[in-house]
Amino acid sequence: MGVPGARQPGDQDLRKRLRDAGLRVTLLRLQVLAALIEQRGHWSVDEVFHTLRTRGVELSRASVYNAMNDFMRTGLVRIADTGPGRALYEVAQDQHHHFVCRQCGAIIDVPCIVGDPPCLQADLPGCTIDQAQVIFRGQCPNCQNTPEAL
Ligand SMILES: [Zn+2]
Ligand SMILES: [Zn+2]
Repeated sequence: MGVPGARQPGDQDLRKRLRDAGLRVTLLRLQVLAALIEQRGHWSVDEVFHTLRTRGVELSRASVYNAMNDFMRTGLVRIADTGPGRALYEVAQDQHHHFVCRQCGAIIDVPCIVGDPPCLQADLPGCTIDQAQVIFRGQCPNCQNTPEAL
């Protein structure tokens, strides 16, 4: 499921990212983070687990889950808000939103015009808002060009 031409992060780069996030460098964390960066996009714990297993890495689903939680806690990774279903993780980078195709479920990143979270404000007395993620829904280009199945 790798993207052709995807940037292969160097080992040193990954180690630095972990250390900068205040995490101890472990082989497992390196492998999970590398998989997320190489493949880009949005991935569930199960998908990362299977990707690494396919590469012959011996690990448990729980260890991937733990690594992902560590990444979340330290801001290396965030949950892509794409609606109900599995939690999908992505490498935290630029603020963006998501388009979800109603027909095939494809997820496309939508650049944020404002740039910094929270890019939307709401009038909620007493609340502070630190993030707003918008889900855009409709039909992706593939599905518009394909007559509806069934
Ligand atoms: Zn689609
Ligand atoms: Zn995204």
